[in-house]
Amino acid sequence: MPELPEVEVTRRSFASAIAGACITDVQLGKPLRWPLGCAPQDLVGRRVQQVRRRGKYLLLDLDRGMLMLHLGMSGSLRFAPQLPALGPHDHFDMHTSQGILRLHDPRRFGAVLAVDGEDDPRAQKLLSGLGMEPLDAQSFRVEDFVRGLQRHRSPIKSVLLAGKLVVGVGNIYACEVLFTCGIHPSTPACALSSAQALRLHAAIVDTLAQAVQRGGTTLRDFSDAAGQSGHFQTETRVYGRQGQRCGVCATPIQVLRQAQRSTYFCPLCQSTARS
Ligand SMILES: [Zn+2]
Repeated sequence: MPELPEVEVTRRSFASAIAGACITDVQLGKPLRWPLGCAPQDLVGRRVQQVRRRGKYLLLDLDRGMLMLHLGMSGSLRFAPQLPALGPHDHFDMHTSQGILRLHDPRRFGAVLAVDGEDDPRAQKLLSGLGMEPLDAQSFRVEDFVRGLQRHRSPIKSVLLAGKLVVGVGNIYACEVLFTCGIHPSTPACALSSAQALRLHAAIVDTLAQAVQRGGTTLRDFSDAAGQSGHFQTETRVYGRQGQRCGVCATPIQVLRQAQRSTYFCPLCQSTARS
């Protein structure tokens, strides 16, 4: 599943190229997770002003209204002057004066939604529960994070994954940051020491910023809107490494199930006895 860094990498790969473009045609393939919300032809003639991101939603501000895009489980975007004819897994094609924006999504959990703006009730429903933005220093303030952790009694791994406190720390990154900080994934969020909470805040910022810098994670088949793929997967230290030796202490990495997801961790480096 594309995580926040991949979505941010995607945004950066086409935001400036599409800014100012006028929509000339919109073609839909098979149904996505939700209907578009307007007739495709209603978008023709509108202009793309900018591309922003909130959580894993890409927000294309138009001169009238906004398009919300989500990559779902398997989606990827391309933006290019020319693209081949729509394939069986291409479900949204937006032709503009500056190129074609195409959503390729074999599993079709992705979505494109036309709304009036961020205040539109459909947008509000999707955006209002989202936590702080880890790549935005103004949003992700350390004191708010520490206070937020104190309100949650669930395991820290689950709190990170839920995205209500901070967005974008998906399964891979949650495993990696907890390892970096030496925090056992089952520790209740409210039981973290202030030193641990500070380390965790810093590790989230560092890990996500680094992943963006390196083009996102391509554990599956992610590539950005210009067709470039990322490299973070070669750098995981615990994720996907069950049974392999920890790079710090040589203890075999273990896996446990939390909230239907696999959590990889080092039982020694992330021992509950440490703080
Ligand atoms: Zn270790």
